[in-house]
Amino acid sequence: MAKRLRIGLVLPDVLGTYGDDGNALVLRQRARMRGMEAEIERIGLGDDVPADCDVYTIGGGEDAAQIIASSRLKASPGLQSAAADGRPIFAVCAGMQVLGHAFTAHGETVEGLGLIDATTTPMTTRAIGEVASHPTRAGITAGLTEPLTGFENHMGGTVLGPEASALGTVKRGVGNAENTDVEGVVQGSIIATYMHGPALARNPQLADLLMAKALGIPMSDLEPLELAEIDRLRLERMR
Ligand code: GLN
Repeated sequence: MAKRLRIGLVLPDVLGTYGDDGNALVLRQRARMRGMEAEIERIGLGDDVPADCDVYTIGGGEDAAQIIASSRLKASPGLQSAAADGRPIFAVCAGMQVLGHAFTAHGETVEGLGLIDATTTPMTTRAIGEVASHPTRAGITAGLTEPLTGFENHMGGTVLGPEASALGTVKRGVGNAENTDVEGVVQGSIIATYMHGPALARNPQLADLLMAKALGIPMSDLEPLELAEIDRLRLERMR
């Protein structure tokens, strides 16, 4: 596998709570462990957003940070071009909310990028704690078989429209919103979630799914990685 994997880490200067930048690190490390060259391209607020990374990760953030992020991503629309091109994008929490039609932050309704058919408005109480779900296997996540685990902390509740599918069916925690039993979003090449953790450290199969999509190969073509510490982490978190 000669390809060099270019991982776009989107706006880590404003989005990246709870170690969400670690999602890019996990992708890079899993690629390197398989003998691939892999680099993280850090896309800061002052940078143009490139449209040609192989995969993108976006993290969570506070309300003020996500307002700044959404205006920057609208002004430099590389992510929109990448999505139109079918490049995999993994977004967490505020990152997910920003990709939707609109979200509420600081009591203000802010227009998002409209890349996913999802709208976020405040819930009555903040969702904080462990979240676990079973993959729905919708769209590009058809290859997922392992339960998903993460940590959620959000005030926004995200409701999906008909173009979007859920990533998981909630077994523990709140997930997208009160009175729903779903977690995350799958639409086209985008996978979004409320799972922090970082999510790709806790869910190695999800990391490999994104990597396989980035490389344009079936997940089964990736050499398996036996990492006892990840197995232990999952056992601990899935209890
Ligand atoms: N500010 C958003 C909310 O509370 C997102 C929070 C986060 O990314 N952790 O809903």
